[in-house]
Amino acid sequence: MDSSEPSSSMTTVISLDENEVTPAQRSRSAFDTEGVEPFKRDPCRGPMFAKEFILLGPHQPKCHYPTIERRHFRYDWFGIYKWLEYNEANGKAYCFICRFSYNPIKSDKSFTVDGFGCWKNAISKFNKHQSTLSHKQACETGSNARRNRLNDESVLNQIDRRSDKQCEENRLYLVEIIRMTVFLAKQGLALLGHREDDESSNRGNFLELLELRCIDNAIIRRSICSLKFTDHKIQNELLLLIQTNITNQIVRELGKSKYNVIHG
Ligand SMILES: [Zn+2]
Repeated sequence: MDSSEPSSSMTTVISLDENEVTPAQRSRSAFDTEGVEPFKRDPCRGPMFAKEFILLGPHQPKCHYPTIERRHFRYDWFGIYKWLEYNEANGKAYCFICRFSYNPIKSDKSFTVDGFGCWKNAISKFNKHQSTLSHKQACETGSNARRNRLNDESVLNQIDRRSDKQCEENRLYLVEIIRMTVFLAKQGLALLGHREDDESSNRGNFLELLELRCIDNAIIRRSICSLKFTDHKIQNELLLLIQTNITNQIVRELGKSKYNVIHG
């Protein structure tokens, strides 16, 4: 057996947490987060940059690993040592989780700053590294940070979804307001009433129609208290927009014809 091959008796696998992803999943997630170029996750950029990628995890490229003294890095080590990452530029290995929780005094410099490249003793060094107290503490810190980040994202996503739903409902309500404005204008009916306060027995065509439509339109019923859009200024603005739209349509139609007759 190749001496660089890990034996089951020698190897202790420490998972970052219960939500750990495989290298393949991690690779896909890198593509999911468009804009994260591989070099940005490169471990040789320094420990502080690991903090940006707690959800993506270690940089584990599948590439050509150069041979040094008849030994080379092995891709399958990524499957065994979840924290392991590799820098293509200097051909050295690092520990993502120790870079994430880097401490200038406690952290193992060879796996956080300098990089490790002695493949002959790789397995024993990897096992020794992951059994150190600083690595175990880093695993705990990393797991907590990852869980918190996932929770934060989950809350933000919920807020975003709620906001999208509210925007869509507001848009639908505005469509109903426009529809009623057009209807009344088309019928030649005044929108305003003489008295539009709550005590009035006839609040004008627009408000009376709006109240009537509340009976069978859930969107209007839900939005009328918070949105309204019943102010005269808004109605005038809507009528002006409708007028401009109709004028533009007529002008477009006239532009298509060679001759036009205008009735006075
Ligand atoms: Zn470590």
